Amino acid sequence: MRVTFLGTGTSTGVPQVGCSCAVCTSDDPRNVRLRTSVLLEENGKRLLLDCGPDFRQQMLRVPFGQIDGVLVSHEHYDHVGGIDDLRPFCTLGSIPLYMEDYVAERIRTRLPYCFLENKYPGVPNIELHSVPLHETFTVAGFQVTPLRVMHAALPIYGYRVNNMAYITDMKTIPDTELEYLQNLDLLVVNGLRHKEHYSHQTIEDACAFARKVQARRTYLIHMSHQAGLHAELEKQLPEHIFAAYDGLSVGCV
Ligand SMILES: [Zn+2]
Ligand SMILES: [Zn+2]
Ligand SMILES: [Zn+2]
Repeated sequence: MRVTFLGTGTSTGVPQVGCSCAVCTSDDPRNVRLRTSVLLEENGKRLLLDCGPDFRQQMLRVPFGQIDGVLVSHEHYDHVGGIDDLRPFCTLGSIPLYMEDYVAERIRTRLPYCFLENKYPGVPNIELHSVPLHETFTVAGFQVTPLRVMHAALPIYGYRVNNMAYITDMKTIPDTELEYLQNLDLLVVNGLRHKEHYSHQTIEDACAFARKVQARRTYLIHMSHQAGLHAELEKQLPEHIFAAYDGLSVGCV
């Protein structure tokens, strides 16, 4: 399976509007962090993890082709703001989106025109599927298991897909979830910055979590400009833990 990081930034994106810090003004493209999203590819099939407001821009960088499904972690704009931009991909067929119950309800409310009986021509052709926690299902050959993650007080989904796991916007995780994270080749997890935040874990928390999970490799996502320069951050991270950057593509066995 190929894992491509389409975006590795927090909700504001990096550079952050109005900021002139060293990260936001850096010439190194690895310091440009669009909103978090990951593309998985295997046997010619493609699964998208989250679909944020930078989705359109992110997809200009990868070859055009069918998207066989989208896994949505939660309803925050930085993870769903690009759903309407699925339109060009809907010309190849309707796209199933998977999420938990309450998130499906909120998306229906937010994008009512996508779910009318008589739709305006050209609106995104998407189907919302509520998927139960811990129940493994298959999408286009990918084996998917939703996990419980806490985004401060908001319960959201992380996903295990084959031997990788995608966990974003986590502050804490119940110990019961660890059994679903065994024998991972690749863990993708949020690490916002070094300083404490009420709804996201820090880079240090992410490293502690990575040590607990013991995936073969861990990549950090959902980073703010306060995570620092990519080159500096990479030097600070322990063995087997890496800072992802937009456009990075790695294999997963
Ligand atoms: Zn987020
Ligand atoms: Zn900045
Ligand atoms: Zn969020």
